[in-house]
Amino acid sequence: MNALIVVDVQNDFMDDGALPVPGAYDVVPLANQAMERFDIVVATQDWHPPEHGSFAANHAGHAPYERIDLHGLPQVLWPTHCVQGDDGAAFVNGLHTERFTAVFPKGTDPTVDSYSGFFDNGHRNSTGLSAWLRERGVTTVFVLGVATDFCVKYTALDAVGEGFATTLLADACRGVDLNAGDVDAAIEEMRAAAVTISAVAELTATSSQSALVIGLGSEQARSGP
Ligand SMILES: [Zn+2]
Repeated sequence: MNALIVVDVQNDFMDDGALPVPGAYDVVPLANQAMERFDIVVATQDWHPPEHGSFAANHAGHAPYERIDLHGLPQVLWPTHCVQGDDGAAFVNGLHTERFTAVFPKGTDPTVDSYSGFFDNGHRNSTGLSAWLRERGVTTVFVLGVATDFCVKYTALDAVGEGFATTLLADACRGVDLNAGDVDAAIEEMRAAAVTISAVAELTATSSQSALVIGLGSEQARSGP
């Protein structure tokens, strides 16, 4: 069974959001297109309390994008973003959220950030995503969303670590690129960790072709390649 993981397609990460990821709006139509190919779609949602330790505003004398040590872990300080219940934390208008099978909030613990949809950055607590996927017979996951060099990367790496065959739909991802080259480096890091790098168009072509060749009914063809 395949599942699609849609990472953090939320207002605050869009081009005009509190923590803008350049080009992030381009992800929305591609995410919608990809979701049509899967019966199981999981969304992650960055979901911070106002006092979250990743917010520069909660560290006197520090500015966004500085790096600090947060309870023993390296932490990039971010503009205040994705505060629980705020519009910035909501999924983007036009994203087909009715296709979501389940939503996994992350970053709820104020003491530690959580880039991955599976674990916090210290790998101390699980969001329950792995167990949830296994209970449904999922062995293969596809990942898209924002940001390529943070939450997407750590979600894909943890997916591999949890034993899922993992494909990145790279055209449906956008990155922060704090330093030029970060996004390319993140993709290389994923590739080196056995993540397959692909694209939404490939997914559609593969699905359509296999449906044609081996004669799957439309119901089965919807479950992806
Ligand atoms: Zn966050």
